[in-house]
Amino acid sequence: MEIYTPKNSIEMIKAQISSRGIKNINVLKAMEIVPRDKFVPKKLAPLAWSDQPLPIGFSQTISQPYVVAFMTEMLELDSNSRILEIGTGSGYQTAVLSKIGKEIFSVEIIKKLSDRAKKTFTELGYNNIHLKVYNGRYGWEEFAPFSHIIVTAASQDTPKNLLNQLKADGKMIIPLGKKPFSQNLTLITKYKKNITKRKILPVRFVPLVQK
Ligand code: SAH
Repeated sequence: MEIYTPKNSIEMIKAQISSRGIKNINVLKAMEIVPRDKFVPKKLAPLAWSDQPLPIGFSQTISQPYVVAFMTEMLELDSNSRILEIGTGSGYQTAVLSKIGKEIFSVEIIKKLSDRAKKTFTELGYNNIHLKVYNGRYGWEEFAPFSHIIVTAASQDTPKNLLNQLKADGKMIIPLGKKPFSQNLTLITKYKKNITKRKILPVRFVPLVQK
């Protein structure tokens, strides 16, 4: 059986993104602009636009394009958004966020991945992205509060530092679940004192390192 592999972002959007209901024009534009082939290992570049996560080394993966689009759409970003991302990984999701929001702060625990993403952003001329190598469960206090937080690794709980660093009326999206590789993408909305949590999609993310 031959698996269809789109050859560019436009074909990918048609086959995987808009066809599955992603409508937000900013998300579609960002997915069109960002070259996913620059965020995967060279030998996987021919598969860059395919409908799957791909290995990026260090037992980590670049997320499936549809999941990137879906999470980004759920955040309801605008050009003023100051976004905290946990799990830079390849930097692909970061790059998509940077095409919509104002300033992106991304924390990654594996230095070599963060360094590689930094190099890619420099080559592409993306200059509204700030990177830090640290355990993302602590967030990035210095630049808090954030209007939006996106966690791209699976957590058993909602890290309280992240909740604290979310602005009132802010939104956070995070894969939550106790079992490995079986979580629910959960949308958290913060009001002045309360938060609401809504499960929206079953997903499989690599685990968020606890300690
Ligand atoms: N959005 C990325 C997803 C990468 S996979 C992409 O599409 O490329 C998840 C990433 O989270 C991995 O790079 C992993 O190293 C990182 N990670 C896991 N636990 C972490 C933690 N506690 N703090 C920061 N990053 C973490």
